[in-house]
Amino acid sequence: MLSAPLPDAAQPSRKVAVIGAGVIGLSAAHELAAAGHQVTVIADQQPLQTVSSVAAAIWFPYHSENSEAADLLLARSLARFQELASIKETGIDLRRGLNLEASPDEDRSWAKIVTNAAEAPAEDIPRIAAAGMRATVPVITMPTYLSWLHGQAAAKGVKFIQRTVRSFGELEDEADVVVLAAGLRGGELTGDDDTVYPIRGQVIRLANTAGLADWLCYDEHPQGVSYIIPRRDDIIIGGTDVANDYNPEVDPQTATEMLRRAIGLVPQLAGCEILEHKVGLRPARETIRLERVDGHALPVIAAYGHGGAGVTLSWGTAQRVVELLEG
Ligand SMILES: Cc1cc2nc3c(=O)[nH]c(=O)nc-3n(C[C@H](O)[C@H](O)[C@H](O)COP(=O)(O)OP(=O)(O)OC[C@H]3O[C@@H](n4cnc5c(N)ncnc54)[C@H](O)[C@@H]3O)c2cc1C
Repeated sequence: MLSAPLPDAAQPSRKVAVIGAGVIGLSAAHELAAAGHQVTVIADQQPLQTVSSVAAAIWFPYHSENSEAADLLLARSLARFQELASIKETGIDLRRGLNLEASPDEDRSWAKIVTNAAEAPAEDIPRIAAAGMRATVPVITMPTYLSWLHGQAAAKGVKFIQRTVRSFGELEDEADVVVLAAGLRGGELTGDDDTVYPIRGQVIRLANTAGLADWLCYDEHPQGVSYIIPRRDDIIIGGTDVANDYNPEVDPQTATEMLRRAIGLVPQLAGCEILEHKVGLRPARETIRLERVDGHALPVIAAYGHGGAGVTLSWGTAQRVVELLEG
């Protein structure tokens, strides 16, 4: 794979247990193995059962921390996804799209990282929006990507075990350091963090018979968050962003309203077959937890709380995990 770090001969190889097989756990495992460590991923949900597999997924810092540290993670991740887009099997494509804004003074800090972002001309802006930015960013077909990433990690020697970890002490015989990439359940094992909460997201997967190529996002749509993300064979229609809602079931009324909003923005969607409805709980936290945590049976590196941007931040997070481990 491109750009993976070379093992550093000066660094002793460590036995690392990564808890979590979502996009954060798999990316961290990949980078740790590429740096020469012996890595085992332990997870009770397989990659395609995780919240990560529900993600749209577009590279965009949605519901994520706004800070210099997060900007570095974003930039590093963007660079890696842009490289990987040249490999068809990854499921990553670079797609043009439009991010609509409800007012002209909306936060555009993301656009300084995407060097190709530019103000959209007024004729591209629908009457219900005030302005917008056009940009070309990675769009990641998550089931394809997670399967590819799992394969890449396995090829680098990462081992996978399916089980629930109930305490760090359980891992003392198998590892000398733990990476905690447990998403919404990240705070449960450390016992010192009850600030992780769900932001429920519901999406519809449509057949892309409309031949749609460009994405469209409008977070501040007056009737609710709206996004339309075309992928290779399907289109993800969203969405919802309900904080502290643990309901994993699809709400039919919500789906009807989401689809109506989407067709209002992109009329060609009318008539596309509905393939699937999905729900995922984004692992939200005021700030991403990406740090060493002391006081446990083993040294722990926490890597969770990525909210609505875990894919967007994944490679940067994984690289930071390696830095934290190697000191
Ligand atoms: C509808 C929707 C749309 C989204 N769209 C986007 C998007 O366009 N772009 C974007 O960047 N992000 C998007 N996201 C957000 C993204 O999906 C998340 O930020 C990301 O998936 C979080 O990944 P994770 O690896 O931290 O957690 P998860 O994917 O939830 O994985 C957690 C893993 O931890 C394991 N685990 C937890 N506790 C234990 C334990 N005690 N023992 C063993 N295993 C354990 C689980 O089994 C699982 O394998 C979206 C989310 C939703 C719901």
